[in-house]
Amino acid sequence: MIGKFLKSLKSIQFSKQTFLLISLAFIFSVACRFYWVYWASDYESFFWNNQLMISTNDGYAFAEGARDMIAGFHQPNDLSYYGSSLSTLTYIIAKILPFPFETTILYMSVFFSSLIVVPVILIAREYGVTRAGFIAALLASIANSYYNRTMAGYYDTDMLTIVLPMFVIWSMVHLVEQKKRVNLIFVPIFMLIYIWWYPSSYSLNFATIGMFLLYTLIFDRNNKLNYEALIFMIIALTYINFYIKISLILTIYLLIYFRPNLWNQKSIAALGILAILLFAVTGGLNPILFQLKFYVFRSVPESSGLAFHYFNVNQTIRESGIVEFEVFAQRISGHVITFTASLAGIIILCFKKRSFLLALPMLFLGFLAVKGGLRFTIYSVPIMAIGFGYFVVWAINLFKLNIWLNRGIILTISIISLLPCLFHIYGYKVPTVFYRQEVESLDKLKLVADREDYTLAWWDYGYPIRYYADVKSLIDGGKHLGRDNFAVSFALGEKQISSANMARLEVEYTERNFTERFGSNLAKMMQDYNATNANAFLNSLNNNNFNLPKKTRDIYFYLPDAMMHIFPVVLQFSRLDLTSGAEYDNVLFYIGAPYAIKSEGVDIGGGFIMSNDASKLIYNGEIVPINTYFETSYDEKDKLVVKPYKIDSSAKVYVVYMKDYRRFLIIDENALNSTYIQLFVFENFDKELFEPVVLNGAVKIYKLLK
Ligand code: MG
Repeated sequence: MIGKFLKSLKSIQFSKQTFLLISLAFIFSVACRFYWVYWASDYESFFWNNQLMISTNDGYAFAEGARDMIAGFHQPNDLSYYGSSLSTLTYIIAKILPFPFETTILYMSVFFSSLIVVPVILIAREYGVTRAGFIAALLASIANSYYNRTMAGYYDTDMLTIVLPMFVIWSMVHLVEQKKRVNLIFVPIFMLIYIWWYPSSYSLNFATIGMFLLYTLIFDRNNKLNYEALIFMIIALTYINFYIKISLILTIYLLIYFRPNLWNQKSIAALGILAILLFAVTGGLNPILFQLKFYVFRSVPESSGLAFHYFNVNQTIRESGIVEFEVFAQRISGHVITFTASLAGIIILCFKKRSFLLALPMLFLGFLAVKGGLRFTIYSVPIMAIGFGYFVVWAINLFKLNIWLNRGIILTISIISLLPCLFHIYGYKVPTVFYRQEVESLDKLKLVADREDYTLAWWDYGYPIRYYADVKSLIDGGKHLGRDNFAVSFALGEKQISSANMARLEVEYTERNFTERFGSNLAKMMQDYNATNANAFLNSLNNNNFNLPKKTRDIYFYLPDAMMHIFPVVLQFSRLDLTSGAEYDNVLFYIGAPYAIKSEGVDIGGGFIMSNDASKLIYNGEIVPINTYFETSYDEKDKLVVKPYKIDSSAKVYVVYMKDYRRFLIIDENALNSTYIQLFVFENFDKELFEPVVLNGAVKIYKLLK
């Protein structure tokens, strides 16, 4: 019996041709991704530990998790991704393969994402058009949005987030096309792997199950296997322990395979009802409602328990904008013409091979980009590519040419269709997240700081700081709601006393919150200090004698030059009235550079001209009175020298010329007195409050003395 089982598994054995085409497409995909490595290798500042650094911020979260798994420990409440899917896979690879850790995380996306060619070719093979699958595989592996999110250095779950649902689709197509009982097992197995890899895959899986049900009811009603597959998929999606799920599925599979006579309409229906009940009772339907609200209607309000009106982070995320059609088509297929041909191919394919309808939920998830933002386009890439491959082969076959002419034309069209994507790869030159000097600074911090210490920094730097310096952080790429960002924004934007007090409060309350679970830090602080008005409480922090809680650890301020350009955005999160949500007037913060010499002086952009003797600022022809003109520069010993020239003490505008950066800042008093500007631009720190740890042109790190 077991022998028969193993024999039937051989039905998925590939032919030599399939294997060859898969290998060729895989090599092509990998080779294209090496272009970035070749380009980036010219820049020394992209290297650390003799290896290129990664180019995605979130990647550092998984890298931290994997590093901690290799070490075998991490700190409580350090937000490490210890045990997450990508960290676990990285950990396994780092254990098996001999490469240095930094090399592993640089190249994992190159090889794993190229696996996309396997399900694409296999799906086409089910329809007897393996060659169309090959064309599709080439296109799918490098189409713009897929490339952008799986290129070398893009160390993120994206490397398998598209590959795995494609395997799910293949397993379903394989089942309904071959109609063999043995193939039942692939559907839940790939779905389980996908769910483990990417828990947010829930909605796509849910939609796919719905599609499979619809397909079965309309086209394949009398096929027992389909109902059994549905039961497996529902169990796979249920919120119960992973191992229980696998055991349940395997047990039922073995019962179905070896005791086929047990299964008639009644017993299958009974099992199906049990599966649905289990699914619903364990909360299976809840996420659907939430996700719909968040992505489609974009209307999840931020509530913090208490009625504080924080700044909503969605307001600053560029990704969720409405997308133009041309950009949309390019991201999915490389070019509008390819995109159109792909759509035509999909329509024809759906008519000729009904089971391809099972790929539609994934296709539509990609099309959600029109409403939900560019991040979704990646899902439709491989489906559309199959449509394209199919269309090309189908259309050329209409002409009934001789076989060599036919193949020649198909090959030519395929190569031309890849050109826009290849040009895109050539032009898409992404820098690494951090530059070497920043990492060197963090490497120094690592020697000084304890693993339980906190680094106060804007959320963009949270994950990389944790990876390179192994300290804790308040906010990061996964924790940056308005209420999380508020304290950090406040500490960077207010005067040094307020900043120091807030930093200490926020760190101590954040740690307490992990065990006491009181929800909002600020509400708890106000309760402890008997404050009733948030604004009054925040004002009271501007006091040297403010009675702080007991210090449990050190805090370091991480102030990079890279933050200069986003500083106005950083400030938005705290420059508002928390009791009403009303935003304060924007601070004046303009960054200029000497763009051109004019008769009146130096044109620094934005309508500003700085007179040659630096005494006058002209804005659109009118003179703006300057309070003080500062010039900062590094002397021959690399020490910062600040020269202030007082001009008009009643004026409201300050000009800073950062000579070595070739940069002008035009700012008001609020921005001038902010902790970030004082500590980073002027190194003018209050010696009672701060002590410098690292000072260089790229990064300044201070230890809080409070
Ligand atoms: Mg740690």
